[in-house]
Amino acid sequence: MSRFWSDQVAGLAPYVPGEQLKRPNLLKLNTNEHPYGPSPRALDAIRAAATDHLRLYPDFGATALREAIARLHAVGADQVFLGNGSDEVLAHVFNGLFRKAGRIVLMPDVGYSFYPVYCRFYQIPHEFIPLADDFSIRVADYTTPRATVPAGIIFANPNAPTGIALTRAEVEQILAANPDSAVVVDEAYVDFGAQTAAPLLGRYDNLVLVHTLSKSRALAGLRVGYALASPQIVEGLLRIKDSFNSYPLDSVAQAGALAAIQDTAYFDQMRHAVMAAREQLVGRLITLGFQVLPSQTNFVFARHPDHSATSLHLALRERAILVRHFKQARIEQFLRITVGTPGDCERLCDVLAEILNALG
Ligand code: PMP
Repeated sequence: MSRFWSDQVAGLAPYVPGEQLKRPNLLKLNTNEHPYGPSPRALDAIRAAATDHLRLYPDFGATALREAIARLHAVGADQVFLGNGSDEVLAHVFNGLFRKAGRIVLMPDVGYSFYPVYCRFYQIPHEFIPLADDFSIRVADYTTPRATVPAGIIFANPNAPTGIALTRAEVEQILAANPDSAVVVDEAYVDFGAQTAAPLLGRYDNLVLVHTLSKSRALAGLRVGYALASPQIVEGLLRIKDSFNSYPLDSVAQAGALAAIQDTAYFDQMRHAVMAAREQLVGRLITLGFQVLPSQTNFVFARHPDHSATSLHLALRERAILVRHFKQARIEQFLRITVGTPGDCERLCDVLAEILNALG
């Protein structure tokens, strides 16, 4: 520790990204990346942008991209806020909307692991609300009035790492019951079968939706995410971001993201391919004796009643297959497995069958 560090730096733990093993023939099913890759039109646009144009600064307003995102969700361009991955968008959301003296933020106790990290970083008091016995978010827990109005509520929908989604009507109940709290719904995985809350943006000025191009658009490496909210909320987020004198996205990312958003045919084809592969994977896992939570994402959350997730995780790792295991109360018996191609899923299940046989 350096004596020059501020107290805040001393208390921070650096982010450790998903494991990246270097092994021949590695099957990486641990960070919910897309198995097929981005739209060829996005790749062409990225190549076209990576020319001597890079000598110019990017469009500070990212106008073309914001307008395309606005059209996609039927909102105004002044309702779109861009960031370098949705993780950065979330950081600005926590900073800009959740830091309110004497008020707390509510979140499910099994949810995206970054939310409590940002709370600690920005010193935001928060309360974890346990999931129901079936691992779903219990809407009633978020609609009961409290003595102090929360600054905000945040959850992923579908939730991560469970994969279970609330309906739009259920999200609306939470919005309606909390008019003075910012309700942030992280829709990172929404394109794999769940209902987006975007149509509610016109009626609820407390709604903030967070999206990413890392999952259904297969552009995790490009780092593009965005928030959709009222123009007033977006204005606040821009004040924070612009105060750092930072461009919304570099020009290559703007070009690639725009082309990916415009290629709706590829997007629909690929997300349906992933959903079909998911259903096959779920079927095979159930045949192998796993209990699988109902997933509306590009991953499944599964446990085996007879074998610890730790032993299965390690046995898969020895055989060059990475899946995710969380050493966290309530979910330590589960593995989170990214949906790959049908061939990937077959290889995973064949290897799991061998492991289960060997364990007896
Ligand atoms: N939200 C959720 C629920 C996620 O699982 C992830 C990816 N791990 C993110 C946000 C962040 O995605 P990105 O920063 O790549 O946009």
